[in-house]
Amino acid sequence: MRVIRIMKDEPLSSAKARRGESNVSNFTEPRIVIIGAGMAGILSVIKLREAGYRDFVVYEKSGRIGGTWRENTYPGVACDVPAHLYTYSFEPNPEWNSTFATGAEIQRYFERVVEKYDVRPAIRFNEAVDVCEFIDGRWRLKTSTGRDDVADVVIAASGVLHHPFTADIPGLADFTGARFHSAQWDHSVPLEGKRVGVIGTGSTAIQITSAIVDKVGRFDLFQRTAQWVCPIEDKSYSENDKYEFRTNPAALDRMRVEANEYFRKFSSAVIDADSAEMKEIEAACLANLENNVKDPVLREKLRPNYRAGCKRLIFSPDFYTAIQHPNAHVITDAIERVEANGVRLKSGELRELDVLVVATGFRTDSFIRPAVVRGRDGISLDDVWADHPIAYLSISIPKFPNFFMLNGPNGPVGNFSLILIAENQLNYILQLMEKIRAGECREIAPRVDASSSFEATRIEAAKKSIWATGCKSWYLDQHGVPASWPWSRERFFDVMKQPEFEAYELAD
Ligand code: NAP
Repeated sequence: MRVIRIMKDEPLSSAKARRGESNVSNFTEPRIVIIGAGMAGILSVIKLREAGYRDFVVYEKSGRIGGTWRENTYPGVACDVPAHLYTYSFEPNPEWNSTFATGAEIQRYFERVVEKYDVRPAIRFNEAVDVCEFIDGRWRLKTSTGRDDVADVVIAASGVLHHPFTADIPGLADFTGARFHSAQWDHSVPLEGKRVGVIGTGSTAIQITSAIVDKVGRFDLFQRTAQWVCPIEDKSYSENDKYEFRTNPAALDRMRVEANEYFRKFSSAVIDADSAEMKEIEAACLANLENNVKDPVLREKLRPNYRAGCKRLIFSPDFYTAIQHPNAHVITDAIERVEANGVRLKSGELRELDVLVVATGFRTDSFIRPAVVRGRDGISLDDVWADHPIAYLSISIPKFPNFFMLNGPNGPVGNFSLILIAENQLNYILQLMEKIRAGECREIAPRVDASSSFEATRIEAAKKSIWATGCKSWYLDQHGVPASWPWSRERFFDVMKQPEFEAYELAD
């Protein structure tokens, strides 16, 4: 490997000319492996093909596309980003039924996109990438079917929220009723008239509550921490609205612009805990609680003791209505253990249950793992990420050449549409890959100093965000630092426009 040093703003070709070299590599058809056929993997196939790449394959661990929307089928599953914004920019969808799309609708949208863009033939289903090692300038992969493959470029589109986390609550296994994690919903279990308990009060549990409270016999919400709930209006689109969206692209575009504007404000609020916008959001959440929960005892149970937005904000049009249903009980006594017949509280009370839903979230620091990933000289991703997952601009890691992540570590941008984030990241990655295809280098990875300096600056900025104001959430790493993009959305888009190549080490 020979490293090519380039100066700020210097074209790579002139860096090579300085060394008396021409473009030595004739590397016009790199082989690309994409990991995961969810939103970001589907996007990768479409955009790689559009950019003229031909030699690529997607490994998908399951038998269907869709990622998080395939896995999460719990009652009420929906996306709290407006549907017209949670849509590929190149594939608007006039058929969304309401402001916020259900999980099933989103899954159908992705299925349609996959058919329209003929993505399916590129996917190898039921085949997970288990090992990914950079040896002699190429990625050597082993999959769960025993296949060996090689790649010049790996795009990890493996998602963030795909390893269910089941809290280590004593006795869970002793429960004799039906028990499952929210991401592994057992639809064969009837809920009508049953005593159902849900552990957790994250976005998932809140959506489940609204969806089932009036169908079950009794509903217990086991709340360890109260949530701030931001009121939203979920408007149904009529056939006339949809006709207008189908026939008038400007009307469809307007929906996107409006949603975008709302999230622009939200995204700038969360990165500055003292901002006027953040205070406005807090006031709206507080008014929602004060005005919509009548019983003062219940209201106090539901009143959080930390700042709104510190945990991922809950957006719900109807949670407060649902939780005031005569069937519903908010259980704030801590759980002592789970027993055969239900949940025993610290107070000694046993909440008898037929069904127990564990809505305790996901392991959010796994990313592509448990796949074993080794970069140059056998360096392991587990070791590099031993303290916490890092990546230069969330996309790439020093010493892991030509290995790019979509929605990688520290990337979520303030409750913003992950689709737009992935589109911008992929546009950036394609520019890095162009250096390889143009034969200017064989390997590209961020420099250690550029990556370390980015991470140090990111951590400092993250400490000023709303996520660092004193609560427990999956946004925080083990040091309590928000694992997030701590700057504005505009800055993110700006940085993604064009790589600063001096931050990279390019090698033949
Ligand atoms: P989550 O936000 O991580 O919430 C997990 C819940 O489980 C928390 O209320 C937590 O309590 C509770 N919990 C964990 N361990 C517990 C224990 N030992 N005993 C009692 N309670 C325990 O998980 P999630 O609701 O599945 O959501 C994860 C993420 O998925 C969201 O933040 C969001 O990004 C995404 N999501 C998005 C949507 C959407 O509409 N776009 C919908 C659903 C999910 P504490 O708060 O006390 O820790």
